[in-house]
Amino acid sequence: MINDFIELVRKHYDSPSEFIPLHAPVFKGNELKYVTETIQSTFVSSVGAFVDQFEKVMVDLTGAKYAVATVNGTAALHIALHSIGVTFGDEVITQALSFVATANAIRYTGADPVFVDVDLDSMGLSPSALLNFLESSCEVRDGIVYNKVSGKKIKAIVPMHTFGNPSRIEEIVAIANQFQLPVIEDSAESLGSYVKKRHTGTFGKLGVFSFNGNKTVTCGGGGAVVTDDIELGKRIKHITTTAKVPHPWEYSHDELGFNYRMPNLNAALACAQLEQLDSFLSEKRELSNKYIGFFKNSHIKFQEEISETKSNYWLNTICLKDKTERDEFLKQTNDMKVMTRPAWNLLNTSPMFEHCISDSLSHSKYLADRLVNIPSGVKWKN
Ligand SMILES: *Cc1c(COP(=O)(O)O)cnc(C)c1O
Repeated sequence: MINDFIELVRKHYDSPSEFIPLHAPVFKGNELKYVTETIQSTFVSSVGAFVDQFEKVMVDLTGAKYAVATVNGTAALHIALHSIGVTFGDEVITQALSFVATANAIRYTGADPVFVDVDLDSMGLSPSALLNFLESSCEVRDGIVYNKVSGKKIKAIVPMHTFGNPSRIEEIVAIANQFQLPVIEDSAESLGSYVKKRHTGTFGKLGVFSFNGNKTVTCGGGGAVVTDDIELGKRIKHITTTAKVPHPWEYSHDELGFNYRMPNLNAALACAQLEQLDSFLSEKRELSNKYIGFFKNSHIKFQEEISETKSNYWLNTICLKDKTERDEFLKQTNDMKVMTRPAWNLLNTSPMFEHCISDSLSHSKYLADRLVNIPSGVKWKN
């Protein structure tokens, strides 16, 4: 089985013996041209035409009304949480099955994450687990949601679209609305993923994207916040650029600001990469379809997009029988220079989040023991 899998991967990448990465950046378009333009213009830093262009492309692509470019996805998450008033002593509901940045960003505000379980199929925050947590562990007083165990205020919900597969975001938002809680979508992994033709990241009050080197589209390092709330979007832009009040020469800052702006050099790279998003997505889907066909006749489950959603298949993911089989698969494939990786350790198991409240996390634990990401990037040859 593993040998047939290796053969499929090597054939797809037209690479009989080289190392096959999980997801490496590929620069086949205008990357060098645009980056060279920024150098020649000297506008490499915090002001420049590519930043504006990038923000416009993000608006066009996602359908959100406003986009703000940021220095990375973690900063985008932090500023999104900060902008809606998440602060010291608060709590934010999220999933334990995520990259550490999700919980780190919550902690940067002074709040604690609360970990709620995911669905087995989407791998994203489970609407039923969310509702159950809010109904059984929380109480609403004067319109504010309190965690009955900690006594702290729950201020927001941060679902994540795991490995690019959209979560049940409409149901999550409906539950959040019932409790008047804002949703910030961690869409860091889901650029090009849709739910009923609507782009992920546009269902919540705010959506956050990452353009890190391992993501579907990269600009070295970068991120974006999108929203339909134009006033909030403008404020986020203001506070990501040190909250400086416009003036010909004076330095006046009207609130606590951050230097979270994406440099123009990175925006140039982002613009060139975004031009290729459609071709990246179709090439990635072609590979996913090969995997789906391959694993259909085995006991190994390929984590397909759930109904009415379209995944970008950022990282193709399979679910093995148990941890022993997972470890064997990881060892054999990596020994054969085909890179595969387990899912992240659950966030509630890291020392800085060990004390945080969680529900049973039974699906999260099941998946954390069994999921493996397999090669998913676009071809670097041709
Ligand atoms: C990549 C990622 C981030 C952070 O993005 P950076 O650009 O690396 O800071 C946040 N959340 C998730 C789920 C991610 O995968």
